[in-house]
Amino acid sequence: MSFVTRFAPSPTGPLHLGHAYSALLAHDMARAAGGTFLLRIEDIDRQRSKPEWEAQIYDDLTWLGIRWDAPPMRQSDRLPAYRAALDDLWRRGLLYPCTCNRRDIQAAASAPQEGAPIHGPDGLIYPGTCRPARAKPQAGALPDGVALRLNMAAAVVGIEDVRFSETGEPAAGVARDFVVTAPELIAGVGDIVLSRKDFLGSYHLSVVLDDAAQGITHVIRGADLFEATKIHVLLQRLLGLPAPIYNHHRLIRDEHGKRLAKRDDARAIATYRAEGARPADIRALVGL
Ligand code: GLU
Repeated sequence: MSFVTRFAPSPTGPLHLGHAYSALLAHDMARAAGGTFLLRIEDIDRQRSKPEWEAQIYDDLTWLGIRWDAPPMRQSDRLPAYRAALDDLWRRGLLYPCTCNRRDIQAAASAPQEGAPIHGPDGLIYPGTCRPARAKPQAGALPDGVALRLNMAAAVVGIEDVRFSETGEPAAGVARDFVVTAPELIAGVGDIVLSRKDFLGSYHLSVVLDDAAQGITHVIRGADLFEATKIHVLLQRLLGLPAPIYNHHRLIRDEHGKRLAKRDDARAIATYRAEGARPADIRALVGL
């Protein structure tokens, strides 16, 4: 079986120990399997992405001993692919424009008749304010400059469930299959945003299209993205794309048990390097 994996950082800040663990683990697993390790720069958010962070990513990864087997894919080069997928979903009547802001959603979701607001992988489940009464195929062009949401109830018509295989931590060696039913997707994920007001596409849409375009067979990433995988396997089904095998690894935490954040400069790889650390020290720090 072929083994193609990737590391997909966003150039919006310095890589820290959590990124080092994810990248080293994926790289080690690809090498052990005689497979392929690819890099993808997730710079779809042009406001927050900076060329200097991208340059630092290449530099830190190279210093760690990581080599990628093809030129990196950059999401900013992929807009035509994102538009084609959105066009397809739009024509099938599975998307609708949404003008709600965060505050509107909060207010509608906590209205007394709604019961307690429920959180999904993407925050509050959208209460449906802008959702059309009936989803129907669209002949016109994809609207620009407005957020587009997936009409989840319409999307799962004819789909009983979606499934994915999770291999877990390599040391644990356990493989499990997860099944997410259509009612769980409607109630627990809801109408997620697939294209943003300020840029075309969204994290969920691009990650699915890019993994397919790079021929990824194994997605190795942090456990914080486990819930998002439900969305990704549904999108794969809707767009006719293959589903990779998933490995959601443990998260590297600070001394208070908190997950490392982008702004956690104290644990940036660049900080350790400036203090004279060696790549082997970083491996030891993350337990590899
Ligand atoms: N770009 C995401 C991040 O930096 C990772 C996405 C993924 O691995 O699917 O957290």
